[in-house]
Amino acid sequence: MPFAIHGLPVSQGIAIGHVHLVSHALLEVNHYHVAQRHLDEELERLDDAVATVQGELIGLKAAATAGHTHSEVGAFVDLQIMLLADPMLIGAARELIGERRCNAEWALVQQMEHLVEQFQQIEDPYLRERQADVVQVVERLVKVLLGHPGHLPPKRRDGLGTIIVAHDLSPADTISFRDHNISGFVTDVGGPTSHTAIVARSLAIPAVVGLHHIRDVVEDDELLIVDGTRGVVIIGPDERTVEEYRLRRSELELERSKLKRLKDTPATTLDGEDVSLLVNIEGPKDVATARSVNADGVGLYRTEFLFIGRDTLPDEDEQYEAYRSVLKTMGKRPVTIRTFDVGADKALNGAARPEPNPALGLRAVRYSLAEPKMFLTQLRALLRASVHGRLRIMVPMLAHAHEIDQSLALVDKARAELRAERIKFDESVEIGGMIEVPAAALALGMFIRRLSFLSIGTNDLIQYTLAIDRANESVAHLYDPLHPAVLKLIGGTIQAGARYGLPVSVCGEMAGDPAYTLLLLGMGLRNFSMHPANVLEIKQQVLRADVGDLAPKVQRILKMDEQARVREAVERLAG
Ligand code: PEP
Ligand code: MG
Repeated sequence: MPFAIHGLPVSQGIAIGHVHLVSHALLEVNHYHVAQRHLDEELERLDDAVATVQGELIGLKAAATAGHTHSEVGAFVDLQIMLLADPMLIGAARELIGERRCNAEWALVQQMEHLVEQFQQIEDPYLRERQADVVQVVERLVKVLLGHPGHLPPKRRDGLGTIIVAHDLSPADTISFRDHNISGFVTDVGGPTSHTAIVARSLAIPAVVGLHHIRDVVEDDELLIVDGTRGVVIIGPDERTVEEYRLRRSELELERSKLKRLKDTPATTLDGEDVSLLVNIEGPKDVATARSVNADGVGLYRTEFLFIGRDTLPDEDEQYEAYRSVLKTMGKRPVTIRTFDVGADKALNGAARPEPNPALGLRAVRYSLAEPKMFLTQLRALLRASVHGRLRIMVPMLAHAHEIDQSLALVDKARAELRAERIKFDESVEIGGMIEVPAAALALGMFIRRLSFLSIGTNDLIQYTLAIDRANESVAHLYDPLHPAVLKLIGGTIQAGARYGLPVSVCGEMAGDPAYTLLLLGMGLRNFSMHPANVLEIKQQVLRADVGDLAPKVQRILKMDEQARVREAVERLAG
């Protein structure tokens, strides 16, 4: 019997395909056969995971011995490091892979269960307790292995795609599926502006999140329909339902192809105001889509995707190549590259310590300033790349004047080093900052005095204003871009920029949502940055807008303090 369940629609479109279950929990790791010719790669996956976890544990130990944690932690970590070299664990798992031709995760869990059974026979309570270390080490290894998926099912003959069904996917997992012909994502947890959702949108792959127990109700290989526009997942659909969704998918494609006619039309409002439509990208691979919609430039290049989901950091040359490639392809169009925003849900592999409250912890500029060498390497790579196009550098999540000053001092240091080494760079590269923390939006003077442009990151600004974790589906219903407090912060920033002649853009998800285009235009916004798939839809809104008419109406909306009234008034803007 087919049935439907509802979740949060986070990436538009319809996918029809077969389930590929991705497990997060140790004891639910999937078993799959690995072909003889891929066995060496599977062993290499295991070895790489062991090396990564070793790095993580050494980092943990360093933090522990530096006095951040209790000293016994150091001893437990040592024990776990020893387990990584133990033939009873890793050696036995390697043998299982070879004998049973199975995946590394499954082999590890099998061996772990075997060892745990043996530990349970031990009388000494202290030694018996040590089974927890075996479990924890295997858990770490499995997490790393799941972040680097092995062989996904091959392309199917029936023309249907593969739909990834997981409890949760990290942004790094999501991006690693990019080259695997995945047609949909479905997860138990996650919110609409979680980075996983953003990546799914940028890959133009339909996705529904926050489904709670989807993994318990679907089976591997089962047929599934994902309606990423309405947030519905249909399990085991019959022929008629599949046909109905095929039709709906063709209609959506038709609408999209009609929009393509707008590609070369300038984004000018009815009353002659020019609007700049820029794109958000995650790497050089996204530039082709940006060009296909004839975007005016890149408004946000999230460089952290160069850093996460891998074991070693990209060096200066690797970064330079990535930035150069984007700048070169975009030619004369501006490219705003954001310095790495790691931390929170975009943790680096081997991050030293899991933080109790990562969204409020060491992320973005805080992380960069805590790792000045890593920051300086990126700034040097950026400046070196600047001769290949029109670069602007943007620093995320600023809240304090000293964070701006220290970042600018490091830019100056990078400039001085390059001059001394006689390496050319563009001396006029502008440095800007993101307004993502309410404190920043309320104390704009210090930004305006020090920076050349501002970009409002509404995803984080909303998260921090309303105190809701953007990646947590249990509070996703409280995530409201139309909350009067949020609108006051956005409106105030746009107006202050206009008053002081400082360009302001919005690069959070609000800029790519047609429901908010008229509102933002009425606030005075002229620079919108969004994932490329939305550019033409937003252009359609711009072409229908009369900002002279919108501005006074939006001023009245900014004075309202009831969410329901704001919502009605915003809907009325569309006439
Ligand atoms: C934002 O916070 O709105 C933003 C654009 O940055 P990110 O989504 O990468 O945190
Ligand atoms: Mg942000």
